[in-house]
Amino acid sequence: MAERIKILDVPVDAMTMQEAVDTITSRTLAGEQTFVVTANAEIIMMCQENATYNDIVSNKADIVLPDGAGAVWAGRHKGYKVPERVAGFDLYKNLLDQGRKQGMKSYFFGGSPTIADIAKTKVEELYPGVEVVGTHNGYFKDEDVPGIIEDINNSGADYLFIALGAPKQENWIMANKDKLKCKLFMGIGGSFDVLAGKMERAPKWMQDASLEWLFRLYKQPSRFMRMMALPKFALKVIFSK
Ligand code: UDP
Repeated sequence: MAERIKILDVPVDAMTMQEAVDTITSRTLAGEQTFVVTANAEIIMMCQENATYNDIVSNKADIVLPDGAGAVWAGRHKGYKVPERVAGFDLYKNLLDQGRKQGMKSYFFGGSPTIADIAKTKVEELYPGVEVVGTHNGYFKDEDVPGIIEDINNSGADYLFIALGAPKQENWIMANKDKLKCKLFMGIGGSFDVLAGKMERAPKWMQDASLEWLFRLYKQPSRFMRMMALPKFALKVIFSK
């Protein structure tokens, strides 16, 4: 069993990527529902500032994974053994890859119109045999939600990947999980955009050098204010008990 550590009071499961994939797969095969949050520094900071969101991540999610160099650094800085970073985008792809061998079906929900469909085509190329049984864009009105839920349930999807950005995706999962038959609920931020080529991921060397944040800032300078959460996070970790 991976250790459940705390980063700024937010529980994080210090699993490897493989442990995360195996745990989610076996829970799904056992018919259990799993709500996964890949918690990066920005999400952990949102938890400090928003009690409702903190309650969702800290008490309602079943598995919280250390996504991003900041979360891994913070855990290690506090003396915990954090084996590796489990990035949401990589976990999403690994689950699709592993899931196709077990006949798991997925539904892609989120992103601007057509992006989820492009992501579906892309993963079908990457992982032949993968079953993406439905898609829906992420720009909808409250009155559309019952129809979206019906579409997801009728699709027979096991895995629901939701790309609405944090905190919207986790809030949506929390509000609607009980009406859904899927086994996995996971927010994946801008992952469909990356697959569709609308957004680029940092080169491997930058990821390895813990510089993915710098790449994102260079590509999307408009993220500057959002990224101010990172130094705030680091200072808070350093000065926390
Ligand atoms: N998005 C959406 N509906 C919304 C707001 C955002 O579908 O109401 C999508 C948006 O198109 C983008 C993703 O959510 O694809 C958010 O990406 P972001 O880069 O903010 O996520 P991160 O990876 O940083 O969590």
